[in-house]
Amino acid sequence: MAVKFYNFLIRKKETFKSLRPKQVGFYACGPTVYDYAHIGNLRTYIFEDILKRTLEYNGYKVNLVVNITDVEDKIIRESQKTGKSISDFVKPYEKAFFEDLKKLNIEKAWKYPKATKHIKDMIKLIAALLKNGLAYETGGSVYFDISKFKSYGKLSGLSARSGSAFGGKNQSRIDSDEYDKTSAEDFVLWKVAKNNEPLWDAPFGKGRPGWHIECSAMSMKYLGNTFDIHGGAVDLIFPHHENEIAQSEGATGKTFVKYFIEGEHLSVNGEKMSKSLGNIFNLRDLEAKKFDPLAFRYLSLTAHYRSKLNFTWESLQASQNALEKLREAIIEIKNEQKQHSDILENVRVLKKHLSKEFEKYINDDLDMPRALALLWEIVKSEKLNPKTKYNLIIDFDKVLGLNLGKIKSEKIPVIVLKLVKEREKCRQEKNFTKSDELRKKIESLGWLIDDSPSGPKLKKN
Ligand SMILES: [Zn+2]
Repeated sequence: MAVKFYNFLIRKKETFKSLRPKQVGFYACGPTVYDYAHIGNLRTYIFEDILKRTLEYNGYKVNLVVNITDVEDKIIRESQKTGKSISDFVKPYEKAFFEDLKKLNIEKAWKYPKATKHIKDMIKLIAALLKNGLAYETGGSVYFDISKFKSYGKLSGLSARSGSAFGGKNQSRIDSDEYDKTSAEDFVLWKVAKNNEPLWDAPFGKGRPGWHIECSAMSMKYLGNTFDIHGGAVDLIFPHHENEIAQSEGATGKTFVKYFIEGEHLSVNGEKMSKSLGNIFNLRDLEAKKFDPLAFRYLSLTAHYRSKLNFTWESLQASQNALEKLREAIIEIKNEQKQHSDILENVRVLKKHLSKEFEKYINDDLDMPRALALLWEIVKSEKLNPKTKYNLIIDFDKVLGLNLGKIKSEKIPVIVLKLVKEREKCRQEKNFTKSDELRKKIESLGWLIDDSPSGPKLKKN
């Protein structure tokens, strides 16, 4: 079945065609390790994981590269406040990043290159841009000359003409890694050494790389000059991704990336996360309030990745409740499948149809809300037998990643099972006094009994 994605380069959905048969090169902008990842970042990582899993579900081998930005303006600023070296400063945040991924059941990427280990690759790229006449040196720093790169703005739609730099003699330049989202300016590739900043030797003088060149260098090093997918969040489209395209295509003369796939923002109580509002949360904040990290993954699945997701504690609670209900239902299905195992022909046909539906949703630009709704339909279905239900759930979870195959059910003690059997017999014989006594006995052992139409069901009290 064809997989379709919304490609930001052409601003529409198109059928995905990999450069190499059944293999995908996928680069995703990773964390800048100056703080814990906030839930907005985590939403992006979950969306990228779903994208990877969807491709794998379709039989592709995915080479995912996620960089670790361990030298950049914010890192330098924050590390200087603490008086630590940047490598000591970033270490705990880098560790926390990997812990978060594990808790959110995000599959491991193929490579996690670190910026400080790829300075030589960045220098090479800057040298190529200088050679191609797309960059210039001034005051010990090197800048990209956007007026020389004709297709600058092709991703963001922001014309270089809207900036003051275009074609003018008085080019305006920007030194910071992040800047105004509406003005196109010559941006820094190599920053001249300043007091107390980490620095490396380069042919154009001692200094350090700009943030944008880091991603161009690390992505092409592992995935080649042209690769399939670049992922990230919409706030990275300009200037970061736009600059990546300019640097890479300017240096190699080849198309950088075929598909740019960008995830939408997460807001908190309808507002943008910001320090001043005190609404920047990370996974540790959620766990401190006794939330399961996978409840946040569940919440992320309830909204399409290209829609805004409004985070509230209530919405997280609703997701946690839904996830718990789902787990309980799966335990029941697991227990029931031991009793009924025959699969009828009509169930086989229905199973095939449901699998196709699931594929249709995920392959339609990752429509996870519909895939999740289908999962619930299966859980509640009265037409499917438990074994078929369970197999479908586990199959879908390869993409959903809610760890549904690893739910541990409480082991019911033999004595309780015996009492339940005895009670059933009494009920059949209409000896309700005795069956009530047995119910109380079962309860005193810590188990609740629910007489459903399909027989008694036990739940830990
Ligand atoms: Zn990046």
